Amino acid sequence: MDEQPKDAQAERAAMEQLQAQLKSIFKNLPHEVPLILFTQPGKNDLFSAACRFLVRGVREATPKVTLREYDLKHPMAKKMGVNRAPTLLLDPERYKVRWLGAPIGEEARTFVEAVLMMGNRSSGLSQESLKVLKNMSSPREVKIFVSPSCPYCPQQAVNALKAAVERPDLISLEIIDIQANPDLAEQYSAQSVPQTYANDVLVAQGAQAEELFLLSLDKMEQQTIFIPDSDAQEVEADLVIIGGGPAGLTAGIYAARSGLISVIIERGALGGQVATTPVVENYPGLTQVGGKTLVDLMATHALQYANIFQGEEVMDIRPGDPITVLTSRRRFLAKAVLLATGASYRHLGAPGESRLSGHGVSYCSTCDGPLFKGKKVIIAGGGNSAVTEALHLHNIGVQVTIVHRRDSLRAQEHLTKNISANKIPVVFDTEIKEIRGKDRVEDVLLYNVKTKETKPMKVDGVFVAIGYTPAVDLAKKLGIELTPEGYIKRDSRHRTNIPGIYSAGDVEGGYKQIVTATGQGAEAALAIFEDLVNPYWKSKHATA
Ligand SMILES: Cc1cc2nc3c(=O)[nH]c(=O)nc-3n(C[C@H](O)[C@H](O)[C@H](O)COP(=O)(O)OP(=O)(O)OC[C@H]3O[C@@H](n4cnc5c(N)ncnc54)[C@H](O)[C@@H]3O)c2cc1C
Repeated sequence: MDEQPKDAQAERAAMEQLQAQLKSIFKNLPHEVPLILFTQPGKNDLFSAACRFLVRGVREATPKVTLREYDLKHPMAKKMGVNRAPTLLLDPERYKVRWLGAPIGEEARTFVEAVLMMGNRSSGLSQESLKVLKNMSSPREVKIFVSPSCPYCPQQAVNALKAAVERPDLISLEIIDIQANPDLAEQYSAQSVPQTYANDVLVAQGAQAEELFLLSLDKMEQQTIFIPDSDAQEVEADLVIIGGGPAGLTAGIYAARSGLISVIIERGALGGQVATTPVVENYPGLTQVGGKTLVDLMATHALQYANIFQGEEVMDIRPGDPITVLTSRRRFLAKAVLLATGASYRHLGAPGESRLSGHGVSYCSTCDGPLFKGKKVIIAGGGNSAVTEALHLHNIGVQVTIVHRRDSLRAQEHLTKNISANKIPVVFDTEIKEIRGKDRVEDVLLYNVKTKETKPMKVDGVFVAIGYTPAVDLAKKLGIELTPEGYIKRDSRHRTNIPGIYSAGDVEGGYKQIVTATGQGAEAALAIFEDLVNPYWKSKHATA
């Protein structure tokens, strides 16, 4: 009998405390925040009642919040484009923000933040977020699915609120409570919260940091790394690394840990070729990892040490002391430059090749060979790499045939002897005219250049080994010596023939693997550090 009054007393005390807190939070709110609530008897009555209760509590704390309530059948609902109950519009004259459901439970925090932002007419977005928002030119209709019991939801909802308050001309926001709107949750497959859609495209799952939320909104897909933009026209560094692939990112980590101020410049996506690799299965320590996940791990690690300038292409390098590196956006002055610009596999250009890439068409037998064990594949090419890859596939139990457009292989003698010794079939004078298959490779059309005959061949995979195109344009422009195969020629310490310019990774040729590229990046960074401490080229010039 005694329990109830005590509970009631405690509840009253808690309410009074909450009221006092709200009063102090909303004290001096400069602007009014008009709210409009649409309800419909018999439809989500509990949520409508909760909405009224919450708004009443806030109104008791500040006279700046006003409330009008309409039935969903009232013409006002049509005018405001509202067709669900309850729906709460927040300062609809100024902002496009609405709540579908009630801001209860964890969401009450979001509601308080919304009133504060609107009452102050200030989003509180960080400078970095404002820069991202400034880049966005087309509107985003944002929908965030939340639930009152989700502790992560307010973070994401507040991110979106900030954007909607900052740019009402661009960003509209619906915060959708999945408990009051299970049909919408079902329609959008929002089974976990928070989930964010922009223009009906899923752009984020889970709560994000503010800058990542805005970047995801800008790019219209979930972003996992935020690299601050820099306005600086001139950047000084000990080492400028060109290329944000595995070699460049690793060099950034090693150089900075040696005490060198390092920057990494990347023209495209961080991670280089790895960013486009679906699965990596040969990176030590990670049995199986998505290429993008591996890139995120490496880039996040590198960001702890080096500044990354993404989306900037290096156009020119001018040797000297300092060396000047010119990008599409600014100028870097450095004591040393590392070329980690990578290489890319040459493509056949046959119909079906790009569509079936990753679905039976592969450019890397070391990477994808094990998937074809016991299956039938062809290797396109006739040089050292095609023959080496054919032997590798044969050794791991793949039934491999070499298809070559000339009448003899152009590989080293011991390799071609190995092909005969292992009875690996070779089809000469033949080109791949087309790679066919619905969802994965089913067969290839082979064209004999001598007999002019075309015939199909059933295969499970096509390995293309017709060479690589190293990214050596900058190196050539600089007068850096290349190997006969067209890669950068360097000494055992990754020095090129131009003092202060080094190389690492696929651009040097050799085994083109992530683990070798990271190893070379580390080696080059350590060699650069040692050379900067004890400049070899200066002593070389002094004795010359
Ligand atoms: C489809 C595919 C699957 C693969 N699978 C595997 C695998 O499973 N395991 C494995 O070990 N290896 C795999 N590889 C090979 C591996 O990805 C490469 O060996 C590795 O990425 C090489 O690293 P890198 O840093 O030397 O060069 P890259 O990864 O090529 O990176 C070079 C970077 O330099 C940038 N760049 C070039 N020029 C400029 C410029 N002027 N200004 C600014 N930036 C510039 C490029 O945009 C690029 O991002 C695969 C490759 C491909 C294409």
